[in-house]
Amino acid sequence: MTSFKDLNLIPELLQAVAEEGYTSPTPIQEKAIPLLLDGKDVLGCAQTGTGKTAAFTLPILQRLAAEPAIVGKREPRCLILAPTRELAQQIGDSVTAYGRRTAITGTTIYGGVSQGAQARAVRAGVDVLVATPGRLLDLMGQAIVPLNSVRYLVLDEADRMLDMGFLPDVLRIVRKVPLRRQTMLFSATLSREIVELAKELLHEPVRVDVAPSSTTVERVRQVVYHVSRNAKGPLLDRLVAMPDVERALVFTRTKRGANQVVERLNLGPIRADVMHADRGQSAREKSLESFKVGTTRVLVATDIASRGLDVDNITHVINFDVPDEPDAYVHRIGRTARAGAHGLAITLCDREEEGKLAAIEKAIRLKIPEGEMPGKAASGRAGGHAGAKAGAHTPAAPHGHAPAHAHAPVHAHAPAYPAPPAPDAAPARDERHGPGPAPLTASGEEPKKVGRLRQRHPRRR
Ligand code: AMP
Repeated sequence: MTSFKDLNLIPELLQAVAEEGYTSPTPIQEKAIPLLLDGKDVLGCAQTGTGKTAAFTLPILQRLAAEPAIVGKREPRCLILAPTRELAQQIGDSVTAYGRRTAITGTTIYGGVSQGAQARAVRAGVDVLVATPGRLLDLMGQAIVPLNSVRYLVLDEADRMLDMGFLPDVLRIVRKVPLRRQTMLFSATLSREIVELAKELLHEPVRVDVAPSSTTVERVRQVVYHVSRNAKGPLLDRLVAMPDVERALVFTRTKRGANQVVERLNLGPIRADVMHADRGQSAREKSLESFKVGTTRVLVATDIASRGLDVDNITHVINFDVPDEPDAYVHRIGRTARAGAHGLAITLCDREEEGKLAAIEKAIRLKIPEGEMPGKAASGRAGGHAGAKAGAHTPAAPHGHAPAHAHAPVHAHAPAYPAPPAPDAAPARDERHGPGPAPLTASGEEPKKVGRLRQRHPRRR
């Protein structure tokens, strides 16, 4: 197993991470730290909870520490932009914690509070400035924050920054940052917009991806159907026949189960294929290829396909069986809503599986709402209770929290399944606090165009 020492961190940082209680680097740290120490630009697809803050903060601190000591007043040499005050504060705390054994200084600026103390801290001189875009622009406008010395630029949670309407602000800020710099952009999803932005701002970036963490599964739209075991097959037939289902990954617990499901589906009009450990490597590769190009609309798989399966535009993940472990659930549903695409995770849960569902809901700290039965949309039933037909059962009360069947109906207009929530009204900049529910990526909307910022990348030092 890789250790922090293997990543060639300086003793001051090794000591700080040990004091934080970290024993080994997380996957994003293992991948990103060597690249960043090497001076590369990085486009990171990682969510909060993966350890991404240390992944960019540690190498920046190391590179700053290696630079000649500053004589006279310090101006920010590193700028980290974050969408919310809370995230900015967390990053600021990390900079302080990881940098405590070095001479590097940092401060955090954000809106919603008076600017006096923040302005004084910047004027006193800092190496690392963590900021939300609105407050930074305010202070830049008052000539309090100079950015001419910035050599390291980080855009954290870039997707949220765009969702919150900060793109123009971000572009205005980045224009003031010298081109001779190392840039890193982190985002939970890599939508077309984000990739466009990365193209504009990053120089030959290396892309680093890590699996979604349990804390961020809320980003995927999820529903559950409480049905009897016998009703699962007919329900699946109806689900995959819905016009929105362009590319679906169906998970079963066993290989035998996968074979049965695929046989059943292939009796109908939809082309399905199967992928599990009993099929040889080349057969699996062929199945995957057909799925990728769209010849196969439904791929039925066991959990071997849930990790590392890199197919964009999977519109639906359907858990025909509830997975045994919450982690497996997270990995399964992480196969959809990739690259900011349309995506929905559907779980079919029978009476015996209620305990497993409860464990999942507890782990992800989310009650999964019930889906409407497909084909019931035309019935005019307002707020009808999903799962009332087709062999539905009353789930046993899961332990520890409210019973799953106590969920409110997904919405009142009874479409085949829940529509994405309306986007939040954009509040004044910097006034949005708290992580709140992440914007769902399954909206199916065309991404907005990214404003152009022409940046020419000079040769690196
Ligand atoms: P982040 O994704 O950066 O918000 O980090 C999520 C949490 O993981 C934070 O509480 C960090 O303190 C913690 N963390 C970061 N790196 C490690 C590590 N290598 N080992 C254990 N915990 C870590």
